[in-house]
Amino acid sequence: MTFEQLNMDHTILRAITQDGYEHPTDIQANAIPHLLDGRDMLASAQTGTGKTAAFALPIIHHIQQTFQPTKKRAPKALVLAPTRELALQIKESFDAYSRKNEVKTIAVYGGMPKRNQIVKIKRGVDILIATPGRLLDLMNMKVISLKDIKHLVLDEADQMLDMGFIDDVKKIISNTNEDRQTMLFSATIPSEIAKLSKQILTNPVRVEITPQNTPLETIEQSVFFLKATDKIKLLVDKLSHETLTSALVFVRTKQGVNKITSQLVAAGINAEAIHGDKTQSQRQKTLTRFKKHDIKVLVATDVAARGIDIDALSHVINYDMPQTPQTYLHRIGRTARAGKLGKAYSFCAPAETHLLKAIQKHIEMLIPVETKHDFVVSKPKTATKNAQNPKQYKAKKRSKKENNSNYKTQKSQPDNKPAYPKPNRKAKPVYNEAKEHSTHTELKRGTASLSQGIPSREERKSFSNAKKSNKPFGKKQHKHKKKQRRQKSFA
Ligand code: AMP
Repeated sequence: MTFEQLNMDHTILRAITQDGYEHPTDIQANAIPHLLDGRDMLASAQTGTGKTAAFALPIIHHIQQTFQPTKKRAPKALVLAPTRELALQIKESFDAYSRKNEVKTIAVYGGMPKRNQIVKIKRGVDILIATPGRLLDLMNMKVISLKDIKHLVLDEADQMLDMGFIDDVKKIISNTNEDRQTMLFSATIPSEIAKLSKQILTNPVRVEITPQNTPLETIEQSVFFLKATDKIKLLVDKLSHETLTSALVFVRTKQGVNKITSQLVAAGINAEAIHGDKTQSQRQKTLTRFKKHDIKVLVATDVAARGIDIDALSHVINYDMPQTPQTYLHRIGRTARAGKLGKAYSFCAPAETHLLKAIQKHIEMLIPVETKHDFVVSKPKTATKNAQNPKQYKAKKRSKKENNSNYKTQKSQPDNKPAYPKPNRKAKPVYNEAKEHSTHTELKRGTASLSQGIPSREERKSFSNAKKSNKPFGKKQHKHKKKQRRQKSFA
């Protein structure tokens, strides 16, 4: 498919052709035709797949088709984004795609004085990019009205949920017209996002860019096992000796970011820090310098780096292992953008191997272990040096499962234990208020067959006691135990 075949406004086509866009990416080819038709959309796609253009191009097209160059125009499209960096980046994309026409975009976000943003809104705008908190502030001040919004985008919806913006988002949406076109883009679709999508989308087209199409294939991943205290030495080593044009180093905390940046600078490496405690203008300056390659290494927290789009970023380094597999994908997705090759290094200390295990399970592949460095510690069981192929990994997992199930079958046939009826997990217990407590007890133990109704009190006691002593339990012992218990409670 070509962009010409999509029949978009010629001003857009001229701009993207000039930018070197030859063919639509997967998400663009799947989403743009439906969005041009005015359909709602639920799309799962990560940054780096070209998702911004997937929603930006149809929006600019729609607005350009009905464009009236009046001075005081109210926003017709609204894009909500979780962070100011992402909001600014989306604005840059809209500006680039609409530079051959007069469609105007502004971004409003926290961390900057409201005054300038208010002046810009009052001058008139077609597309508004906003972080939820700042937009609500401006709405409460009656500076902005959303009554003309015809196109609404929630970008990185899962991140907005993680950051606690979901109620703000719902409030904002309730101030827009119901006949709007709504697009929800999210890297993952957790249940809360699925629920929200049902509330705000009408008969949406579902577009799913599966992990096979994520930038994973174009990223050369490797993991380094080492002591936590050796991480800074390895980092300095890598940044000084590698043929490395620009690297983004992820550190878990803001304090950590500051500390590591100072250590890198002290080692003579051109590095700067970016995190939530820096002012917006500091963050913007640093990002611009990094994009222009005036800074070689940017040390960042996850929130500060979310959605950053930097061309030709050669390396992503996980100084601290990410807390979730999703964060891992977001981090390494900063390199290898739009099909370029990139490298992702993960520094894994012994206390972080469980995080590596979760990542490998999620991406269904084993990350190759790099052993050619000066700080190697022995390889934990989670890693296998050569098996990187996802198919190999799956096959291994399957055989392990089979082995385990064999083991279970052997274990579940002990020769000296009484055979009890197995619980029928599918059968629902017959609900009986008087026996509620005992039914729950049995359900937990799973020793009685609930398919035949609730077992009697004697049956239950006898089952559980027999389980403990490995032999059937008679009435006599039962009475004796009861007596012992009563004596104990008086003692
Ligand atoms: P995104 O996933 O929206 O952050 O986009 C990632 C990068 O891909 C950005 O630098 C875009 O400029 C670039 N890009 C988006 N669509 C295309 C395309 N069709 N051809 C080439 N580059 C693209």
